[in-house]
Amino acid sequence: MLHNCAVHAEHAVPRFAFPKGGVDIYTCPTCGCIMADLDFVPEQYEAAAYYTMAFKSKAEIEGEWGFRWRYILRAIKRHNPTPRVLDVGAGNGYFVSLARTEFGLDADGLEISDAEAAYALKMFGIDFLRGDLASVAGRYDVITSFNVLEHVQEPMALLAQMGERLSPGGHLVLTTPNPTCIHRRLRGLNRWSMVCPPHHINLFTRDALEESLARTGFEILEYGTLSTYINAVRKIDTQSLMLRRAAFQALKSVNLGADHFVVCRKTKESVPPRASPARGSS
Ligand SMILES: [Zn+2]
Repeated sequence: MLHNCAVHAEHAVPRFAFPKGGVDIYTCPTCGCIMADLDFVPEQYEAAAYYTMAFKSKAEIEGEWGFRWRYILRAIKRHNPTPRVLDVGAGNGYFVSLARTEFGLDADGLEISDAEAAYALKMFGIDFLRGDLASVAGRYDVITSFNVLEHVQEPMALLAQMGERLSPGGHLVLTTPNPTCIHRRLRGLNRWSMVCPPHHINLFTRDALEESLARTGFEILEYGTLSTYINAVRKIDTQSLMLRRAAFQALKSVNLGADHFVVCRKTKESVPPRASPARGSS
């Protein structure tokens, strides 16, 4: 059973919501954070069938991610035209590849998974930094982390570590699933596909995300939602992207997109969050 909210131990005690996939799901009455009562399972990210590695060609990867990564890279360049970038949880490597080849950025990727690192090297010739953030030397102007925060056991510790690796005034650019997206609204929380233990451990409402960033020394410069996983639209709009762009803009305009998208500035050196020993099962 969960005793503490993943965002802050002084929030109200998490409330049991429902079981899913044999795992108990809780919500925080204070910030709305949605939490799975389970431990991080690194082995899941070594499977070749994992969604980031399920593509056989660059063209398939471009079809899935090209639109999103270019949108984000343009946003980064608006804030800093020539940053040194670190992508934390760099997955199949396509973001780092585009950052280097199309946007001319000095970009590194960090990845814990051997399978992802081998895939990125084979597909894009990218040699990731390996291991966790604590082992990364030096500082970066921009740290990106796309759909990683929801996978880790201690998201506040990860945010603090990202702050430590940023230069003063550097930018943090994050995406993570948005619990008020249109899918969740239509299906309800227990049928929302982002509640998917063991992959996702913590899901952040906008309030929870904003509080998490403020507590770890970040100021939000831009908030929006992104939605490029509209399969029904993608199937009929394979070439022009016009429908996909229209659907993307429509959902973005009302913040119903699948993921939160935030650009933040580091305002102070992060204060490491207090450990929450009662986080796990008892
Ligand atoms: Zn909370």
